[in-house]
Amino acid sequence: MSNNIKKYIEKTYNKSKDSFHNLVKENLKNDKKMFIVTANPETLMIGEDNKEFSNILLDEKTIIVPDGIGVLKGAKMLGIDMKETITGVELCTKLFEYLNEMKKSLCLFGAKKEVVEKLKEVINEKYPNINLLKIYDGYIEDKDKVMEEIVDLKPDVTLLALGIPKQEMLIYKYLDKFNKGIFVGVGGSFDVLSGTKKRAPKIFLKLKLEWLYRITREPKRLKRFYKSNIKYLKKINELKRENRG
Ligand code: UDP
Repeated sequence: MSNNIKKYIEKTYNKSKDSFHNLVKENLKNDKKMFIVTANPETLMIGEDNKEFSNILLDEKTIIVPDGIGVLKGAKMLGIDMKETITGVELCTKLFEYLNEMKKSLCLFGAKKEVVEKLKEVINEKYPNINLLKIYDGYIEDKDKVMEEIVDLKPDVTLLALGIPKQEMLIYKYLDKFNKGIFVGVGGSFDVLSGTKKRAPKIFLKLKLEWLYRITREPKRLKRFYKSNIKYLKKINELKRENRG
């Protein structure tokens, strides 16, 4: 197990959500390539176990944003300044607004067929100026073939919702083949944005307990949560002690 947690957190975007959204908007306007990883503690812990994923997180081309409150907490505990969380769902919504304003193009790859089809309907209705080039569900066997097709389509934004770390590894593998485009691994966001899965009630969001809501709705997440978050906190505490010592 490597020990890069602190490096990942130091590298994570630490300014406000608004300033990040503005940066994304500028890059979109100027056709500047961008690869965004929306990270929660689980994401960072995968980096600890998986060398290839760790290299992706540490690559200067990769921008990590703090999706989960745990990343922010970890930063605080290590004395690293970090303003607020920037969630994948909010980022997607902003991207849809910008794409609509600029009449630019989009590709979606991930989630169940009915989910991504529903999301297509939602986008067509709410953001009629987006040029939605193509959608692919996340259960297509040959994912490399899909990526090669997306390379040819040259979208302004590509969202991959295949779960971590699959979505990030796939983006990274093809990143050099694109001359432009904003690429984001958005995990379960298609399920939320399509209206298939509800986001946590406001009170959970306000108390920053969305993770707790998700566990109550999908108990199978508890094991995953334990494996990543408890280990993560242990690790952060160790680092904190080392810092002191
Ligand atoms: N998914 C997919 N293909 C797969 C496995 C998962 O498209 O082979 C989708 C799944 O339908 C869901 C998303 O990937 O929409 C991952 O959701 P999850 O809530 O697990 O996201 P995470 O917590 O990893 O961000």
